[in-house]
Amino acid sequence: MAATIWYEKDADLSVFDGKKVAILGYGSQGHAHALNLRDSGVDVVVGLRPTSKSVEFAKEQGLEVKPVGEAVAEADVVMILLPDQYQAAVYKKDVEPNLKPGAALAFAHGFNIHYGYIKPSEDHPVFMVAPKGPGHIVRREYAAGRGVPVVVAVEQDPRGDAWDITLAYAKALGALRAGAIKTTFTEETETDLFGEQNVLMGGVNKLVEMGFEVLTDAGYQPEIAYFEVCHELKMLVDLMNEGGLNKARWSCSDTAQYGDYTNTCIDEHVRERMQYHLKRIQDGSFAKEFIDDQDAGAPKFKALQEEYSNVRIETVGPKLRAMFSWNKDAVKDADEANSFTGKIARAQVQ
Ligand code: NAD
Ligand code: MG
Repeated sequence: MAATIWYEKDADLSVFDGKKVAILGYGSQGHAHALNLRDSGVDVVVGLRPTSKSVEFAKEQGLEVKPVGEAVAEADVVMILLPDQYQAAVYKKDVEPNLKPGAALAFAHGFNIHYGYIKPSEDHPVFMVAPKGPGHIVRREYAAGRGVPVVVAVEQDPRGDAWDITLAYAKALGALRAGAIKTTFTEETETDLFGEQNVLMGGVNKLVEMGFEVLTDAGYQPEIAYFEVCHELKMLVDLMNEGGLNKARWSCSDTAQYGDYTNTCIDEHVRERMQYHLKRIQDGSFAKEFIDDQDAGAPKFKALQEEYSNVRIETVGPKLRAMFSWNKDAVKDADEANSFTGKIARAQVQ
């Protein structure tokens, strides 16, 4: 069955006439949603903890900012863009008690609804607009007159208008310039977790890390190993994005292609691991493991962040990236990304 895809003409922004949208959180997704909706003419209020560093930042950008409970109390649509692991607690404490009757609840990822950590009462429409890209790109594309595609879903539709609200929200975000694909909370949550664990992050990151270690353990120079297992990856992924696996293969030498077909380390055993991980996603055991650890103060998560920020390729990576004149801005962004562990200091880039 072909997917249902909606575009600009399929949505009507007048859904938001006389209505207010609260955006909770002002991180990667939050800032993009708040600014894009505001620039599309929607009446937006940002909900943040009064102590949050983002309060001043959001105000500087001309947005109205209120404590979470107050923002919720005046909103007809509440988009929850907090980290997934904190959403349930904030929902119980500040959202549920302040939610107007019939106000719609929105998410950018299905995690909390799908696994039942948030259980809204039946009179609230519940929908999802999940951008298929990081928040900073969602904002950048909107400003350039384009949009990042989204997947959209409706979980509860007590009045029959949930899809109208969903598509209007996606349009105001700029996403219908690119397209919105219909999905469900279940499908989005399970495939999103699967992709990040097995391919996009857990898959690729581990391949790069291990590839680097195998080469350097065999006595090759780390600089050369870095080029071969990390630096060139982006160029191949760009080709893949443009024209799929076929274009990426077409652009490589016959030697590379032949080795790709015959000498890959990814085999049927990896497929079995993927299927095992998919089961753990489907039966909720991955979600439970993650949330239980977070609820306990995230000891395992923090230890893993520490451990992984020190893998061997990361000890040489900053020095190499700093050498690439074409890569200066990216190096600056990377420093910001690295600061979350405070481990990979700018000092190493010398
Ligand atoms: P983020 O970590 O970048 O930002 C979270 C925001 O919530 C910050 O402004 C933070 O100050 C605020 N916050 C944290 N705890 C809070 C609390 N207790 N009360 C009030 N505010 C609090 O998060 P993000 O990456 O934008 O993710 C938000 C949602 O978007 C998640 O559901 C995520 O799965 C989804 N999503 C993210 C991306 C992405 O690329 N980052 C892509 C698609 C979907
Ligand atoms: Mg994803």
